Order: sequence, then structure tokens, then C-alpha cells
Amino acid sequence: MAKNCAICGNAIGLIDSRFKLTDGLMCSHCGKKLGLSTFSISAVEQASKMSSADVKEQINTVGLSFFQNIKDEKKKDKEADLIRYESILKEFNNNSSVVAGNLIFSDSQKEILLKKSLFNRVYKIYQYTDLTGCKPIVHGSEQKKHHGITRALVGGALLGGAGAIVGAVTGGKKFSVINELSLDIFFRDNSTQHISYISTETKTDSFTYRESEKQLNFLVNKINSIVSDSTVEKTVQPNNQVDNLRELKMLLDDGIITQADFDTKKKQLLGL
Ligand SMILES: [Zn+2]
Repeated sequence: MAKNCAICGNAIGLIDSRFKLTDGLMCSHCGKKLGLSTFSISAVEQASKMSSADVKEQINTVGLSFFQNIKDEKKKDKEADLIRYESILKEFNNNSSVVAGNLIFSDSQKEILLKKSLFNRVYKIYQYTDLTGCKPIVHGSEQKKHHGITRALVGGALLGGAGAIVGAVTGGKKFSVINELSLDIFFRDNSTQHISYISTETKTDSFTYRESEKQLNFLVNKINSIVSDSTVEKTVQPNNQVDNLRELKMLLDDGIITQADFDTKKKQLLGL
């Protein structure tokens, strides 16, 4: 007649291996959970001293510690990630050339760190060469002083490329109130980072506005210079010029061209 395992309740057949507990039987599967093998005399002996309550408690503890281990590992991974991020952040802060919103520009690393934030759980590092440009956004209105009312809302003036300043964006229009002053920064991977300087109605004769405009101008100039630097790096190919010079030198050595020819050509190639 089949008996049941005191732990899992499954039937233990006559020929099934089993453990004898102080108050019943335990199947080999439950024994395995405890790391006990029915082939081991000492394991069988160990089980024989345990009650079913002892075994259940043991299994619960082992099970818990198993899951606890996974949780701990995940926690460790998270902590390691955080430590890595903290050290990256520290490095960028120490080498920062410009800080704008969640972006830190580092001239020495030629990189831009997108910091973690409430809306951005994952940080990102851009290379300077990933920058493709920026677009200032200015929304504002002119105020008629006599009536003290806002009229002619001029908004959505956009400008890309070099030399972007608020005046150029607004086509020379002088706003007395600005509702939005911000900058879209574009990257090669088609991502855009938005830097907001002003997002509430702000008078243009205020300190806040002047500071914001100054910061925006500075960043636009910075980005333009980074973009043009990396463009120059790409178009100028010094290796080719060196190769050309070597060929010329060979021609000179072989007497095919004169020293004067060589000097002229060398000046041209090196842009002297
Ligand atoms: Zn069992």
C-alpha cells in the first residue's frame, strides 16, 4: 500500500526511494530540495532525526535564501551601476566646460554626458562628433505700453546653423515679454535634447531674461564651434597630404621635378 510524503503529500510507491523521518516518510524529491540523497547513508541518518516540521522549516529557509541570493545579486548590480555612474558624473563635473540642463559638456573628454533625471533614468554619453547642430526657440510678445495690453503674439521663430542669437531668431523684433526661450540640440543618432531657459512669462528687461539669453548664446556658440571643429577634422585629411608630399619628394629625387616645383607644390599642399 502506497504511503504519502509528509512534506509534499505525493504518493510514495513501494519501490520508490524514501527517507524515514521521526514522524513519517519523505519522498526523494523533497530530500533533494534539502540536498539529501537517498544513496547517502549519512543523509538517510540525518533525515531520520528530523520531524516533518523540521524538514518544512529547513526547505522554507533554503528556498528563501535562494531567492534572497537572486535579490542580493540584482541589488549588487544596481549598486555597481550607480557607483559607475557616480564616478562618470564626478569626472564630467570636474572637467565640465559647459553645463546646460541635464547636459555636461567636457572639452577635455570631447564628450557630453546626459545626466540621469526624474524623466530620464538612464544616462547617456555623446561624443562631440555626435553633435549635428542646434535650434533656438523663442516665443514672445510685444507689449503696447500705452494700453498695457499684449498684442501681436509672435511665436515659433526658429533658426538653425551658425551665429544663432535671439535677435536673429526673432527677425530683429524686440519682445517685451518672453514666454519661452529654449534650445533643441541635435545628435547624429537622431535624438534631440531640449534645454529650457524660460518657460513662464518673463519680461525682457529682467535679470532672469538677460542671464538666460546670455547662457543660450554661449551654448549656441559652443555647439556651433564643436560642430564646425568636427567638420574640419573630417574634411582635412592630413594623411593624404603627407602621401602626396612623399610622392612629390620621390619625383624631386628622381629629377622629374625641380626643387622650385617641389617647394611651390609643398606650400600649396600644406596651405602655407
Ligand atoms: Zn515529497
